[in-house]
Formats: sequence, C-alpha cells, structure tokens
Amino acid sequence: MGTELKCARVDGPIIVGAGPSGLAVAACLAQNSVPSVVLERSDCIASLWQCRGYDRLKLHLPKQFCELPLMGFPEDFPKYPSKHQFISYMNSYAARFSIQPRFGQSVKTAEFDSSCGLWRVRTQDVEYISKWLIVATGENAEPVIPEISGIEKFRGQFIHTSVYKSGLDFRNQKVLVVGCGNSGMEVSLDLCKHNARPHMVVRNSVHVLPREMFGISTFGLAMCLLKWLPLRQVDQLLLLVANFTFGKTDRLGLRRPKTGPIELKNSTGKTPVLDVGALSKIKSGEIKVMEGVREITEKGAKFVNGQEKEFDSIIFATGYKSNVPSWLKSCDFFTEEGMPKTPFPNGWKGEKGLYSVGFTRRGLQGTASDAVKIAKDIADQWSTIKDANNTCNAHFIPRIDSQKK
Ligand SMILES: Cc1cc2nc3c(=O)[nH]c(=O)nc-3n(C[C@H](O)[C@H](O)[C@H](O)COP(=O)(O)OP(=O)(O)OC[C@H]3O[C@@H](n4cnc5c(N)ncnc54)[C@H](O)[C@@H]3O)c2cc1C
Repeated sequence: MGTELKCARVDGPIIVGAGPSGLAVAACLAQNSVPSVVLERSDCIASLWQCRGYDRLKLHLPKQFCELPLMGFPEDFPKYPSKHQFISYMNSYAARFSIQPRFGQSVKTAEFDSSCGLWRVRTQDVEYISKWLIVATGENAEPVIPEISGIEKFRGQFIHTSVYKSGLDFRNQKVLVVGCGNSGMEVSLDLCKHNARPHMVVRNSVHVLPREMFGISTFGLAMCLLKWLPLRQVDQLLLLVANFTFGKTDRLGLRRPKTGPIELKNSTGKTPVLDVGALSKIKSGEIKVMEGVREITEKGAKFVNGQEKEFDSIIFATGYKSNVPSWLKSCDFFTEEGMPKTPFPNGWKGEKGLYSVGFTRRGLQGTASDAVKIAKDIADQWSTIKDANNTCNAHFIPRIDSQKK
C-alpha cells in the first residue's frame, strides 16, 4: 500500500523556494520566455522576511546592493529599507513577472532519474517532473540551536531569533542572548530599547565595523576600494577606521579575528557585524558581554569563567543552516552543510540540469548574479528544444495525473 501522489510534468524548470532567489530566477526565466514552477513550503513568498524577521529588521546593506535583477527598489525607499518595505518590493516583483508559486508544497525528496533523464521532485502530495531543477531554498533554511548542556532544565522561556519579534515581550526581563552576529547585536539593542537587561554571549572572535564610514556605507566603500587595492590593504583600512571610530573593541570583550573582515567573509562566509547602535550600549554597560556558556541551569547559566547568573529568558542568535542535504538525494554537488562544493562565482551550475541560486554567501548580490546566469543557460537549452519540437510538430503540454508510489 503506497500513498497516492499526483504526478505533474513541468514544462520548464522546477524552482524549489519562493524567497528572493527563487523569485529572481523565475523572473529572469520569464524575461527569456521560459516558464517555470516555483514550489514553496510556506504560504507566502519571502517567508524568511515575512515570518521569521524581527520587527526592527532592516536590510543590513544599502538598497543598491540588494536589488534583484530587472527591477530596482522604488526611488522613495530609504537607503536601508525596512523589512516591511523589502516585503512590499518582493510582492511587487512577483506581481510584475506574474510569478505564482505553489504554496504549501514542501519538497521532501528530489532525485535525478537516469532512466528518463529527468528530475523527480516530491512534495507531500505531488511528484513534479522536469528536465531542470533549481535549488533556491537558501542558506538560512533552518534555525540552528547549538547543543548546550542543561538546556532542558531551564525553567524560563528560550527561543531562537527566528521567532523573536520585539523586545516588548521581554520588558523588564534579564535576558541571555547567545550569539554576537548581526542578529545577536540587533536583538540585544532592541531589548535595551524595551527596558530589558541583555547579556550577550561572545564565544568567538568577531569583527564589528561601523555601518557607514565618511558618510558612505562600509560595504559600498569596501567594494569600491577593492577595485584599486588588494584585499588585505582594504581590510587594513577598514580596521583602521573601525578602531578610530570605536576604539579597540577587544577591551569590550569583542576580540577581533586575526583575518581581516572581507577576507574572512570571502573565505568562511562569516559576515562582519555592521553596527547600528549596539556598540554604544556595550560601552555604557546596558548590554553586558559574557564569555562562553558552560551550562544552562534551572534558573540561568554558568559561564566558562566560573560566573553563574540567573536569567528570565534565553534567546539563541545562533544562525541558520541550509536544508538541501535533507531532501536532495544521490547528488554530490552540495557539501554536507548544504552549500555548493564549487566556490563562487561558479557554484550556480551542477550536472544533468541541476542549478543553485543564492548559495554564494554574498547575500542578494550573489542571488542576482546567479539568477541571470541560470536563466541564460536554461533559455539557450530551451530554445534548442523548442526548435526541435517545432520541427517534429510536438508540444510540451503540462500534464497532471495520479499514480501510486
Ligand atoms: C536577519 C537577516 C537579515 C538579512 N539581511 C540581508 C541584507 O540586508 N542584505 C542581503 O543581501 N542579505 C541579507 N540577508 C541574507 C538573506 O537570507 C538573503 O539575502 C535572502 O533572504 C536569501 O534569499 P533566498 O531566497 O536565497 O533564501 P530565503 O529567503 O531563505 O528563501 C528560501 C525559501 O525556500 C523555502 N524552502 C526551504 N526549504 C524548502 C523545501 N524543502 N520545500 C519548499 N520550500 C522550501 C523557504 O520557506 C523560503 O521561503 C539577511 C538574512 C537574515 C536572516
């Protein structure tokens, strides 16, 4: 006895994920007159932004570095659009290119069937079949909570930042924030603004840079300098200005990595923190910096330096991971961590009609670059196939029928 799966033969590529990456590639394909089917597990586009972003979330980078191909942000949007503005841009983008994802379609498995040379992509109720599979499920598909001894004993509330909305829910509480990346810093800042008392755990070294230098976005400045100077010199300059602006952050418990911020980002994907105000709260003592946690207790935490403190809540700002290995089968294009094995800028194309978009560790800029290349590559194949079909008078007709699996 098997479960009944509907079977859908898809004309163009199957795109898994309706985040910015999935939408960008669908738009670029549409521009090349190639149809596609976008499968999305949630019930909306850009679900990371709509369902998992905290209220005060803004783009970390200026809008010109976050535009998707073929359509820019509205002129009246500020330099750093808010989460709501970004979502409205995504909605307009999907409407402009008539992208209508199939919602509630969570891809469980995808596998290349060499007997017919097609990809079989299964959700809970449909098997989609196509010559092309585009993976657009993102670098941030699943929240990560590290294993910390004793967490099951904790009597207060503990959450991941993916479900954090606002410091309002933590008013007057003493909160342990585990993690000091952009999310950990912003959540700590938000907690301060709502009269909570955040203690931020900084286990590893971290680069904190001003969001802007000389009135220019730090990211934009770095991109510009990289056209003229070697990467290490750019890093040295950024650190010089950062140290001049903040003083030595080591004194605040924020040790800098030995590798410079851009070199580290390129080699490991670790993003420098672009400060939006947390650093001054650390200096004033409103955000307390704590060393690593040794264990969680019923009422709080013990730290590696022997200190023990009580907390009302714990927030894990410990990032996300890709979920590709859980559903893409018999394929060695991705690493165990779910990232393409081939580094940027060549990680967008696999074999047998497999593509990946948005796995560059370069944010939305990387997405835009991948999407354009993928659409061009598939459009070239599409026109060849169409020409062949016209010659033999056949047609691609989407087909849906039922079969037992
Ligand atoms: C807090 C935060 C702030 C950020 N700020 C910036 C910024 O300012 N600038 C920037 O460039 N980048 C930023 N990023 C990075 C950001 O993740 C990306 O730029 C962008 O959202 C990536 O788009 P994506 O479509 O690749 O992935 P996502 O936005 O994660 O979209 C992937 C989609 O795939 C769906 N999906 C996953 N698994 C399945 C499955 N098995 N079946 C079906 N659907 C599935 C998900 O539901 C999701 O809708 C930020 C990230 C975070 C977490």
